[in-house]
Amino acid sequence: MPEVTLTATVDWEGYEIRDENIDAIKKFRNDFPDVPFTHFICPSYFTRDFNNKKIAEQIRSVMTNNDEVALHVHCWYSLLEKAGVPYRSKPTWNPGGHPGLFVSYDKGNKIDLGHAVPLGSYGVEEIRKIIMTSLEILSLHHLIETPDNCTGFRCGGWVSSDSVFEALLGAGNFLYDASAAPANFFKKLYERLNFPICRWLSMIWGNSRISEPSYLTNTYTFPHYNNGVTGLDHGDSHISQPTYIASLNIMEAPDTGALADYVTFRQLTHYIDKAAETGADTTISIGFHQETATWPSPEIRPEGSTNIEVFANAVKYFLNLPNIESRCSTWTKRLTKKPLHDY
Ligand SMILES: [Zn+2]
Repeated sequence: MPEVTLTATVDWEGYEIRDENIDAIKKFRNDFPDVPFTHFICPSYFTRDFNNKKIAEQIRSVMTNNDEVALHVHCWYSLLEKAGVPYRSKPTWNPGGHPGLFVSYDKGNKIDLGHAVPLGSYGVEEIRKIIMTSLEILSLHHLIETPDNCTGFRCGGWVSSDSVFEALLGAGNFLYDASAAPANFFKKLYERLNFPICRWLSMIWGNSRISEPSYLTNTYTFPHYNNGVTGLDHGDSHISQPTYIASLNIMEAPDTGALADYVTFRQLTHYIDKAAETGADTTISIGFHQETATWPSPEIRPEGSTNIEVFANAVKYFLNLPNIESRCSTWTKRLTKKPLHDY
């Protein structure tokens, strides 16, 4: 029987931690105790003047022993300040270059911005500083043992461009990047929603080589996915699989099922069926954002469920599929099952 492995991921945006989202994640953990998570955490929760001890406890309260903590970077001002990197406010992936999310801190004297600025718009050395500082912060708050213990990375907005990959080299001990997103899916979403990030994703993970702008270049990854990264779109006949990028000595671990904010339950079941029907061992990835776990997305999801409910229903559907061996794994456990060069 073919084995289908699901990697369930949670993106922590470094924006805010609300009880209702934490409670909803705890409920999922109770309902599905055998489904491990790979948490991609942006450390900017800790770079403001908030109660860092409480924040670390809140994050740990939704973790189990089988989970993995990986790094997620959004270019928040407060994080860049810690890293000693001059902040840039542009470009952003919002319509009209809108700055997007903000957090008031320092008793209202400062405003944290930058969530929607692509990491690849910074220089390689700057990105490396941001990554190394981020690892130190996660380690300081005991979310990882040491900076070298963090093996996974997902770029904020999934936009791992060339300079991001170059910065990852020598910035720690990264085994994989989990930023590759399904290009056709986001191309169609862009046609409906007109959100620049969707167009960016259809470019950086699409079927052409991109040489500019710098934050969308795909020199390293494009040769490995030259038909574009596929998976979630109804027209995709294939689900892109993890691949070893020898020039960077890193694995690309594609997020072919995207995150629940963008998909309907029906789209996820089609995607999971597609994996089951390949007849070969396949890895798939679905997930949600911590910050929007309990949000409904009415404009793209008329039935009005919350993101984490859609995610939970998809996990349940996956676990009950006949004719396949359903496995759940963190990304690192999945990727270390065989030598990198065999991918
Ligand atoms: Zn993010």
